[in-house]
Amino acid sequence: MKIKINKDKCIGCGTCAALAPNTFALSEDYKANVINQTGDNEETIWLAAKSCPTGAIELEDDNGQKLWPK
Ligand code: SF4
Repeated sequence: MKIKINKDKCIGCGTCAALAPNTFALSEDYKANVINQTGDNEETIWLAAKSCPTGAIELEDDNGQKLWPK
């Protein structure tokens, strides 16, 4: 699975970094970054993606097929 952040959508709320701190971190410009694609287990990454209020976290499978947001 591949994780991407749509920076245009990210509002810097910090939810992803709070839920999956080994995967996401906020940068100085208050945009989320993926610090480790496999930092947390997939269940935790999915929880973070689904908890993002703006749908800024995009998940793809290994073939590049979009998994989230639906
Ligand atoms: S949860 Fe979404 S909007 Fe909030 S910091 Fe993470 S990517 Fe940005």
